[in-house]
Amino acid sequence: MTLRTLALIPIAIAIACTNSSSRGDVGDLEQRVDELLAQMTLDEKVAQMSGTTAIMGTYGQELWNVPGVERLGVPPFKMSDGPRGIGVHQGATAFPVAMARGASWNPELERRVGEAMGRELRAIGGNVLLAPTINNLRHPSWGRSQETYGEDVHLLSRMGVAFVQGVQQYVLANPKHYAANSIENTRFRVDVTVDDRTVREIYLPHFRAAVHEGGAASIMSAYNSVNGQFCGENETLLRGILKGEWGFDGFVLSDFTLGTKPDSALNGLDLEMPTTNVFRSLLDQVEAGDLPESVIDDAVRRMVRKKLEYRLDAPSPVDESVIGSDEHLAVAQDAATEGAVLLKNQSQALPLDVTVLDRIAVVGVLANTANIGDTGSSSVRPAFVVTPLQGIEEAVGDSVDLDYIAKDVLEGDDIAIVEAADAVIVVTGLTSEDEGEALIGAGDRVDLSLRAELEALIRAAAAANPRTIVVLEGGGAITMGNWLPDIEALLMAWYPGQMGGYAIADLLFGDANPSGKLPISFPTGLGQLPPFDNVSLEVTYDYFHGYRHLDRNGSTPEYPFGFGLSYTTFMLDNLRASQAEAQAGDVVLYSVDVTNTGSVTGAEVVQLYVTYPGSAVERADRELKGFAKVSLQPGASQTVEIAVPVNDLAYYDVAESAWALEGLDHAVHVGTSSRDLPLSTTLTVAPQAPVAVY
Ligand code: BGC
Repeated sequence: MTLRTLALIPIAIAIACTNSSSRGDVGDLEQRVDELLAQMTLDEKVAQMSGTTAIMGTYGQELWNVPGVERLGVPPFKMSDGPRGIGVHQGATAFPVAMARGASWNPELERRVGEAMGRELRAIGGNVLLAPTINNLRHPSWGRSQETYGEDVHLLSRMGVAFVQGVQQYVLANPKHYAANSIENTRFRVDVTVDDRTVREIYLPHFRAAVHEGGAASIMSAYNSVNGQFCGENETLLRGILKGEWGFDGFVLSDFTLGTKPDSALNGLDLEMPTTNVFRSLLDQVEAGDLPESVIDDAVRRMVRKKLEYRLDAPSPVDESVIGSDEHLAVAQDAATEGAVLLKNQSQALPLDVTVLDRIAVVGVLANTANIGDTGSSSVRPAFVVTPLQGIEEAVGDSVDLDYIAKDVLEGDDIAIVEAADAVIVVTGLTSEDEGEALIGAGDRVDLSLRAELEALIRAAAAANPRTIVVLEGGGAITMGNWLPDIEALLMAWYPGQMGGYAIADLLFGDANPSGKLPISFPTGLGQLPPFDNVSLEVTYDYFHGYRHLDRNGSTPEYPFGFGLSYTTFMLDNLRASQAEAQAGDVVLYSVDVTNTGSVTGAEVVQLYVTYPGSAVERADRELKGFAKVSLQPGASQTVEIAVPVNDLAYYDVAESAWALEGLDHAVHVGTSSRDLPLSTTLTVAPQAPVAVY
């Protein structure tokens, strides 16, 4: 059959869907894409390159539409945010924010979160989820800190890949915002100057992982510009690196409204969202000979390819009953439980024992507030939210007298109530008034401390009762020097999602054992961090931020990256490697024996960091290169294995425009936080000229 005869037959792209997986047989896919493209008019092709949903009005409350070609059976895209649940749908499950999930250090759990979100979106007829946010948290002042998984490329990669793979069981994922998007207030205009090595090693590896390992079907470009060119028209980022070097075969959509620029189509942006503006002129440009039609063909080909591959025309139906289902709520609760980080537990103030307590006081407005994250594009509207107070009330039942002081100030009788309690739980922190997406939320944080009245509340509670426990909510690092010494215990709960109250209560009362680890450093103050400038329109990002910056300056943070306590204790022992010498392409397997030496079941995150003594280039003092989470009963031991691809030890050699693996005796350190690494060994890569690894 010739192409010409084919063109007369509308090709139905429906394929029977036999399992829950969203992907089709890709065997003859490219041929079918070609056939469909050959039947499309230029008008039809260009129309597929813009959304058709007005930005104003019910923002985010209807699926964003991107037309297909009805007469050819090419379905539309139907999109929803976002990173903590299906924003578009009233009643969708509200998961903990990504920062909390990053703190779980549990990619398998994150895969389940992604699957649940994908399933909910499919159930309402959506097919593209505008998530995950995988921007590296360069500074905790970023208003959208809560949306991402932390400050480390390896952790970001593992969590992002797991989420994408989970989501794509049902719908297309859309890792965002590519790239170096980590300031809110100037996000539409700021130009980020970043040298090649920094961008390659700090701002891109997690996007590469999302594409290569996660198989992400689409990518959203960022608003900001990088090295003088807006990300939405950045030739180097889009055509050069993403589509060229990484061989990305999916499509790139703009961040919404202001993310598309005059050279976007030419330089590799495939889809303007949420409605046509800049791309309105594409047809004229092609007809005038100013833009090659091949640019249009390439963009449309990428979108149609993913529509076919993921069978968007005939998705196997998912029943709406999955939305907010018990199964999904359980995943949300697991994520809240595993993501909470126990930062302080002096005198073993926690867990609280309901059998010996007579009276507890719960203090603070947030104890009974549905505080699940910012009001920006990531917001979710669940059917209900279990507040910490509700969780605590259910946990203690009738056996303990509970006084709730529903204020952020202690006055009059409050002091006596707090004094009389066997323990005081202060629930406080940040809200959507403190941080969030700019314009539709609060934007960046100007300083990292709690509001003065909240600090005063904690101090007043601690002054009245030595057994003061703080449950802290928020999307990023909070400085706490003004009150931390006064309290006995501190649980960082982040924005824990709609089931957060149960998770918090389980942890406070010992029905669950904290196992979260900080995915970001908690500094003592802004002075320990690189500058954060959300005023000027030109900023420079250098190679060091987060724990790399703190390590380099010899600063002692309040709590280091990777830190988190448990109600039990662990011993790590017997570090060994599958090989002591390696070369490019090898994967070295490290084994460590972990023993639960305490009296309750608990989980530990074993972390592996690499240092580069004698490197020819400036390196971080240590870099996370692997981790594994293991749950153990009291007295139990298990050997944990961490695989480290040797290519991950390469640096980006700017002169050669290639990744280079150095001949070095790499030091490998293993422990339970970036500052507690008791076990060490050496990995020798034989002295040689640096080898290009990919
Ligand atoms: C945000 C994106 C979001 C989009 C649609 C933009 O302002 O930056 O993350 O997906 O809006 O809500």
